[in-house]
Amino acid sequence: MSISTITVIGGGTMGNGIAHVAAQSGFTVTLVDVTEAATERAIKTITGNLERQVKKETITAEQMAETLGRISTTTDLEQGAHQADLVIEAASERLEIKRQIFATLDKVCKPEAILASNTSSISITDLAGGTGRADKFIGMHFFNPVPVMKLCEIIRGLATSDQTYATIKSMAETMGKVPVEVQDYPGFISNRILMPMINEAIYCVMEGIASVEDIDTVMKLGMAHPMGPLTLADFIGLDVCLSIMEVLHTGLGDSKYRPCPLLRKMVAAGHLGRKSGKGFYSY
Ligand code: NAD
Repeated sequence: MSISTITVIGGGTMGNGIAHVAAQSGFTVTLVDVTEAATERAIKTITGNLERQVKKETITAEQMAETLGRISTTTDLEQGAHQADLVIEAASERLEIKRQIFATLDKVCKPEAILASNTSSISITDLAGGTGRADKFIGMHFFNPVPVMKLCEIIRGLATSDQTYATIKSMAETMGKVPVEVQDYPGFISNRILMPMINEAIYCVMEGIASVEDIDTVMKLGMAHPMGPLTLADFIGLDVCLSIMEVLHTGLGDSKYRPCPLLRKMVAAGHLGRKSGKGFYSY
């Protein structure tokens, strides 16, 4: 099946980036969020990011206008999704919200439409099971900021068909992304490897092995990581890190994934990283 019309659900950090890149790649995009204030904020962010691209001369002013012209917004999920060839869900990371969205989409979308989720940690097989089209259900895990980051993990649920996978792989390539095929297990590949590393860095802080700055320096200068694990944890949000560790621990059942007690304590104290002004560093 060929894809020309895409609906993106959720216009937050990830949704506005996905809508931006899809529209810039020539797809007709409808962006759906729950309030008009949210859709307006998304368009404002996309416009600002496109303006930056024009300033850097990576696109022309004409391409910017064409990209914006391909994006429309609505707060009505049914109206926004009934014509879509592909729906990419990037709503808040809450199971009940996503289940509700996909139940509605399954009813209102064309029978041949593909449903995708950008979830970081919820099982694709589980979400697919709530629809009558598990063969046309898939994970598209983009990275923040979407216009910059090249990777897209494509997660195959247990019932995802080869045809759905092939269509989405080619669509991700059209969006300029490098797709990687991943089977549906907790944390996929990215968080399965990244989060235990961050968690271990937090154990090093808790055990007093080295200072926060020195732990980051070891990973930056010794391993050529662009950013130390504790800086990255603050950037991602310590609450998000904790919830992904819980998913790994519960889903894989191995004690090596137990969240560090210091991580739990910092989240309980509201020290969530950049977004709260304090985490391993102060902002
Ligand atoms: P966000 O909080 O920035 O945005 C979520 C948006 O979804 C909000 O605008 C909210 O109003 C909207 N929303 C909530 N319920 C909705 C509904 N019923 N219908 C339509 N819109 C609804 O969150 P985010 O960081 O963009 O994350 C979105 C998804 O992407 C999550 O599943 C998250 O796990 C995943 N993800 C996030 C990142 C990241 O770095 N932030 C990276 C990869 C994947």
